[in-house]
Amino acid sequence: MQTDLQGQVALVCAASRGLGRAAARALAGEGCRVVICARDQAALQRVAADLAAETGSEILPVTADLTRRADVARLVETTVRHFGGLDVLVTNAGGPPSGLFDTIGEDDWRAAIDLVLMSVVRLCMESVPHLRRRGGGRIINITSVSVKQPIDGLMLSNALRAAVVGFSKTLATELAGDGILVNCVAPGYTRTDRVTELAAATAAREQTTAEAVEARLVQHVPLGRLGEPRELGDLIAFLASARSSYITGTTIQVDGGFVKGMM
Ligand code: NAD
Repeated sequence: MQTDLQGQVALVCAASRGLGRAAARALAGEGCRVVICARDQAALQRVAADLAAETGSEILPVTADLTRRADVARLVETTVRHFGGLDVLVTNAGGPPSGLFDTIGEDDWRAAIDLVLMSVVRLCMESVPHLRRRGGGRIINITSVSVKQPIDGLMLSNALRAAVVGFSKTLATELAGDGILVNCVAPGYTRTDRVTELAAATAAREQTTAEAVEARLVQHVPLGRLGEPRELGDLIAFLASARSSYITGTTIQVDGGFVKGMM
C-alpha cells in the first residue's frame, strides 16, 4: 500500500522505547522525517541512531519532559525549526501508576492529569498552528483499551484516558475545516519493555514464571497472544497517511479482540 508519507514531518512523543518507538519506526519506514522525544537523552540518541540506520530516514532526538509546558513548547518549536514544518503529531507518554480510589490522593490525581491529559492538550496547543500552516495534517493519540473497557485497579488510567478521548473527539470536529484529522489508537496488552518488566516483577512476587503471568494476561484475548508494538505502529502509519482521508474522531483498538463491546 502506498502511504504518500515520504518526506512528511512527524513528531512522535515518548519514543525512547515501546509503543512510541514503534510508531516512530513505522513512520520513518514510510519515509517520514521524525522527531522523537523522551526524558532520557542517552536512550533517545541510541534509538535515533538505530531508527536512522534501519530506515534511512532522518531522526532528530529532542529531550523533553512532557509534563512540563516549557519543554512541550520547545519540542514543537525545535521540530518546526529543524524540519521547516509539522505534518503528523503522535502523542504518547508513560502510563500513570496503578491504584484504587482509596489509595489515590489529590497530588496523585494532579500528577496524572499533567502526564495523561495535559500533555496531549499542550502538544495540540503548540502543534495545531503549524498543522494549519501546512493546510492540514494528522493528530494521533495513543491511549489504551481501557477507554473502551476499564481495567480493574487502574483508576487514574481509566478516568484520564477517557478524558483524552473526549478531548480528541471534540477537537476532531473543531479542526475538520482545517483538514486536520484527529484520532485515538487504543492498544491492548502489547509486548513492550514495560509489559515484559511488569510480568517479570509479578512473577518474582508470586514465585511463578513470566510465561505464566503472560498466559494469564492473554487469557481474555481471543487471538491468544500479546500484541507486537509493530502492529500498533502499522495502524498509526495508516492513520498518518493520505489513505485515511475520511477517518476522524474515532478510537481504534489494536487488541487481538480483547474489548468485548461492539463499538
Ligand atoms: P514504556 O514504559 O515502554 O514507554 C514509555 C515511554 O514514555 C518511554 O519512552 C519513556 O521514556 C517515556 N516517558 C514517560 N514519561 C515521560 C515524560 N514525562 N516525558 C517524556 N517521555 C516520557 O511504555 P509502553 O508500553 O510503550 O506504553 C506507552 C503508553 O501506552 C503508556 O502510557 C502505557 O500505559 C500505554 N499502554 C501500553 C500498553 C501495553 O500493553 N504496552 C497497553 C495500553 C496502553
